[in-house]
Amino acid sequence: MRRSAEALRHNLARARALAPGRKVWAVIKADGYGHGMEWAAAALTGHADGFSVSCIEEALALRESGTDAPILVLQGPRTAVDWELCARHELQPVLHDEQQLSVLAGGRAELPGLWIKLDTGMHRLGFAPTRARALFGQLRDHPAARRGLHWLTHLACADQIAHPQNAEQMERFTHPVAGLPGQRSVANSALVISGGAAGLSPDEWIRPGIMLYGPSPMEGEVGPDRDLRPVMTVTAPLIAVKRLEPGACVGYGATWTADRPTRAGVVAMGYADGYPRHAPTGTPVLVQGRECPVIGRVSMDMLEIDLTAVPDVGVGDTVTLWGDGLPVERIAEAAGTISYELLTRVAGRLRLTD
Ligand SMILES: *Cc1c(COP(=O)(O)O)cnc(C)c1O
Repeated sequence: MRRSAEALRHNLARARALAPGRKVWAVIKADGYGHGMEWAAAALTGHADGFSVSCIEEALALRESGTDAPILVLQGPRTAVDWELCARHELQPVLHDEQQLSVLAGGRAELPGLWIKLDTGMHRLGFAPTRARALFGQLRDHPAARRGLHWLTHLACADQIAHPQNAEQMERFTHPVAGLPGQRSVANSALVISGGAAGLSPDEWIRPGIMLYGPSPMEGEVGPDRDLRPVMTVTAPLIAVKRLEPGACVGYGATWTADRPTRAGVVAMGYADGYPRHAPTGTPVLVQGRECPVIGRVSMDMLEIDLTAVPDVGVGDTVTLWGDGLPVERIAEAAGTISYELLTRVAGRLRLTD
């Protein structure tokens, strides 16, 4: 696996250009979407306004690695100890649930910022928007909110520009918090890319995740369509090359059969490395700039490809599974999943080849 800090910074600049004047929480949860959280933070320090992670454990690891930028913790604290950790490590947690509120109420911890999440239609995390004003009244004098009480929500359908739920959710957010002090945060990558972030409050902190790493989250698109560059390139060597006669079957289950003499290659990459086992015959890989199809089932440590398009390659040559020249969205689509899943599942064994 190869990672490009330059591509990461380029993509962040793209997010900024699409949301001029807004602040940026660079989302680096899930180990930086599989790229390494600390690596991503180091590459973006001085470029992002802060970092966003999912849980306290991630936030503490980030602080331990020396990051002193603001950190937003999306799932927020659950216990009194969690709230204290937030205070001690200057974390900005998200408050989204009654249980958290009752634990917080008894505490005296002072936080650099407290974000209240409103559930405007995703029905995952958040308070009913009708509670916004009451929550504001209840918390404004609490030490946790003294340095800032802010508002966020999350859109369920931003990757489909024309989906009616987008406008509904925006309405359910902006109206209840109108006139209340504090920063706002609505936009994930999809809203940023679709241009929706430009119309948000001047106090908006956008929360781009996937676009920083190169993929476009928009349906039917790849990152380069939006001038996004892949940060991760996954390669592996060809470890065997062979000639298959017509009638020869390939791999577990013998699901692919040669119908002509075929030059095939075995790539040292399998599902234990994070390549999707469900990638069917025909899923592209890149060899010497040409696309070759996967043939047969992906194994644990290997997969097989048809080398007809590249007669000159041999054992030891490099195969690109995704990244530069082959957007990960193509492989995700073939395997019936999304780029997020493939990136976050890249296994430790692959990292070692960095
Ligand atoms: C993961 C996440 C994001 C980033 O989403 P992308 O689609 O990767 O841009 C933003 N906000 C919340 C609440 C998230 O959980």
